[in-house]
Amino acid sequence: MFFNIRKDKYKTGHTHTFAGINMNETEKTNFAEEYYKRQVTMKEIGNKGQQKLSKSRVAIVGVGGLGTVSALYLTLAGVGYIRVIDHDTIEPHNLHRQILYTPDNLHQPKAKIAANRLQQINPLIKVEAVTEKIQPNNTERLLTEVDCVVDGLDNMQTRYTINRACVKTNTPYIFGAATGMEGNLTVFTPPKTGCLECLIPNHPTTTAKEEDTQIQTQNTTRGVIGATPGIIGSLQAIETIKLLTNTKTNLKGKLLICDFTDMDFTTINLTKNTQCPTCHNKNSKNTKTNY
Ligand SMILES: [Zn+2]
Repeated sequence: MFFNIRKDKYKTGHTHTFAGINMNETEKTNFAEEYYKRQVTMKEIGNKGQQKLSKSRVAIVGVGGLGTVSALYLTLAGVGYIRVIDHDTIEPHNLHRQILYTPDNLHQPKAKIAANRLQQINPLIKVEAVTEKIQPNNTERLLTEVDCVVDGLDNMQTRYTINRACVKTNTPYIFGAATGMEGNLTVFTPPKTGCLECLIPNHPTTTAKEEDTQIQTQNTTRGVIGATPGIIGSLQAIETIKLLTNTKTNLKGKLLICDFTDMDFTTINLTKNTQCPTCHNKNSKNTKTNY
């Protein structure tokens, strides 16, 4: 039993290496039952949903304010494989909102520190770190063999690169953005829904268009309070879990706009752009997902 294992480890002074504990299959099963007990009892999850989560594979692109939070909750939920992708290093100005890092981690690669931390938090899953920078020529490779992609980015150009790869491979894309006291969230599943470029066309006037559509994508100039990406990252994790367990995903084809100053939450319908250069006329020939 799990509790006996932990007691034994306390006795032998090996508690710090719990993530690396050698459990036989029975002990692992018992531990998993205890670990997920409170969420398996939910009718929305159940044993079936938990099994789906354990067989799921998710890529989180960017492990900053949004990505550390979504990664934490997907780890805790028991998503079987998580790939965290980030080429950046941890800096002092990251610490107030990027919850997987401590001052001891300064100047070290975010992806490696995040992956190690997540693996410690849940030794029942597999977490992989990728420190490559997302480029148009490596994106499909970095996002290969995942069921969905979670957005933890802070710039639009990389988002467009991710979006194009997701449309091409029919991979659902959980979009999130946060700045100041505002945030946005949606789930793109082309061809059923439009894509990011339907929502925000990729052209020189993007900035003005973003303001028109109230999409918040940058926090470098406006600043951000840690709780803002904390909330949006948590919502991204919820939408991802719903997607992976085939629970109805209300944000497919809809954009949630959150204004935490006034605590105003609005959902608007998104329409496909019939002229979209990325998703228009794309067929769902690749049927590796059923979302
Ligand atoms: Zn599109």
